[in-house]
Amino acid sequence: MKGQKYRALLVDLDGTLLEIDMLQFIPAFVACLEGYFAGFNIGDDFSRHLVAAINSVIDNRDPERTNEAVFFDEFCRRLQLPYGRIRPLVERFYQEEFPRLRKWSRPHPDAPRVVQSARRQKLILVLATNPLFPRTAVEQRLDWGGLSADDFDLITSIENMHFCKPHAEYYLEITRMIGCPPEQCLMAGNDVVEDLNAAAAGLDTFLVDDFILRRGHHRPEYKYRGSLKELAVFIDNLG
Ligand SMILES: [Mg+2]
Repeated sequence: MKGQKYRALLVDLDGTLLEIDMLQFIPAFVACLEGYFAGFNIGDDFSRHLVAAINSVIDNRDPERTNEAVFFDEFCRRLQLPYGRIRPLVERFYQEEFPRLRKWSRPHPDAPRVVQSARRQKLILVLATNPLFPRTAVEQRLDWGGLSADDFDLITSIENMHFCKPHAEYYLEITRMIGCPPEQCLMAGNDVVEDLNAAAAGLDTFLVDDFILRRGHHRPEYKYRGSLKELAVFIDNLG
């Protein structure tokens, strides 16, 4: 039967396992975080500095530095504030304000089924969300989606990863962490660039097209395509 070679399922979170309105969520996220820095006279440049620090994480290919280290180095440098001042503010933001962003999300009714199917098939299950957020923000979004961190063997977050999507290094780092060769992994996600580029690392791809995220006009290349419900059926039919 097709696909029986898979030992691991990597699955994206935002727009794949969780419905989320990014056009509302991202500006609200930035505005809420900016509120914590209101006392520092940063002016209108806060969002520009934040985006630049995030981009420095995405661009970083140094395997010796965690995404978290890269982010805070760049963010502190740009805001000209010490880590000891910034870190507690960011932590408070994720405790106090991030939970309020839940209103821009909705559970995907088929997400628990994908998790259950992967578990039944004894697949190694990886939440392969772009590791730009701290673990707490990922766990909160899982909760918004009716899922639990305990469902996953590995969750990628800003603390434990050294690369980001769409780089092949991100996917290769996961395969090393779970001890599974790329050709035995299936990456499922809604983003035609960030998720489907897992193919560059030798993984097979499943484009989840409930909330497909296109970038530009190029034709997406994938091995399989379907809804989240169809992904669950696909997993059920493995081997
Ligand atoms: Mg996504």
